[in-house]
Amino acid sequence: MEANEIGIELGFLEKIDGGWLSNRYFPNKVGGKPAWLHLDDLPAQEKMICKKCEKPKAFLLQLYVPFDDDYNFHRMLYVFICRSETCYVRNNASVVTVLRSQLPLKNEFYAAEPPLETGEPLPAILPKEHKLCLACGCKSSVKCDYCEGYYCSFVHRDLHKPVCSKIGGIESCDRLSIVEFDEWEIVKDSMNDEEDITEPHAVEEQKFSKAIEELSKSCKTLTFQNLPDSDLEKYAANSELMDDKFFFKFRKECNKEPEQIIRYKRNGLPLWITDVQKTVASQLKEIPLCEYCGGERKFEFQIMPQLLNYLNDDGIDWGTLAIYTCSRSCPLPVGYAEEFVIKQDIIADIACGSNHHSSNVNK
Ligand SMILES: [Zn+2]
Ligand SMILES: [Zn+2]
Ligand SMILES: [Zn+2]
Ligand SMILES: [Zn+2]
Repeated sequence: MEANEIGIELGFLEKIDGGWLSNRYFPNKVGGKPAWLHLDDLPAQEKMICKKCEKPKAFLLQLYVPFDDDYNFHRMLYVFICRSETCYVRNNASVVTVLRSQLPLKNEFYAAEPPLETGEPLPAILPKEHKLCLACGCKSSVKCDYCEGYYCSFVHRDLHKPVCSKIGGIESCDRLSIVEFDEWEIVKDSMNDEEDITEPHAVEEQKFSKAIEELSKSCKTLTFQNLPDSDLEKYAANSELMDDKFFFKFRKECNKEPEQIIRYKRNGLPLWITDVQKTVASQLKEIPLCEYCGGERKFEFQIMPQLLNYLNDDGIDWGTLAIYTCSRSCPLPVGYAEEFVIKQDIIADIACGSNHHSSNVNK
């Protein structure tokens, strides 16, 4: 059972000068605009639209995870997410899109030598054929007549209208916080299993029960957001969770490295936040085969709820996001291929008798 805990890479967030997070440096990052790897065949705008609210999904993060073969010398995974609260359904990942892109060492966009990481960062390498949306950085298709800025959609063009100005227009239209998340670098660290800082079982259990009791009384919502510290005991509002061995294990693993936002282990197993049978078991049985090679998709990494603490958006929520990719990472006839994701949520209704989203509606 513990096999999946060996060799896991964890991701943490750090602030860094944004110039170092452009595609030139093959970044691991959260927020800002996507740093595109393949520059010719950017994802079509329809792919980036949430089917429910019909707004473009926002860029959440990207991971640079190359493989040791000819066609994956560069390899990037991208995650996009809808920011409309009403689109969220428990244990349903339709709000999330995961894309895979890859390039061989010799390619038309990047030099074969690794980029120099000294001095001042050099500018991003831009697509030749496409203009990028000033709001979200995706492929653009419409133009603002006033400032002449390019946008991916009428939604993003219209969003910038209040800040649109002809003088220095592009600058002022460049960053819309309702579209773009704050930008952070993801730094990786291997998990050190010897350093077990969890408390003795009985004490831990007692503290846990007490915290749950208090939360149930105050009828707090079950969320990882807006917490000043990473005290995981506070995350439970549902007394059922006390018996949930998944949640207990999840919490224990998080306590080892409370700030982790990514757990990466290709072909490993995700650390589920709650009972799989009650949430995502049927989805796990039906992970679709890779549409390009017909091969099996396997777990590659998961996004932890701790990331929500950094995003300043009460409308979005997840327990954990588990990403499954083509296990061969097969060669692609397109610039970006969609991969598969499972969103697992904690069922929090029982303790307070309401949807936990409903308390955050007025943000
Ligand atoms: Zn949506
Ligand atoms: Zn856009
Ligand atoms: Zn404009
Ligand atoms: Zn494949």
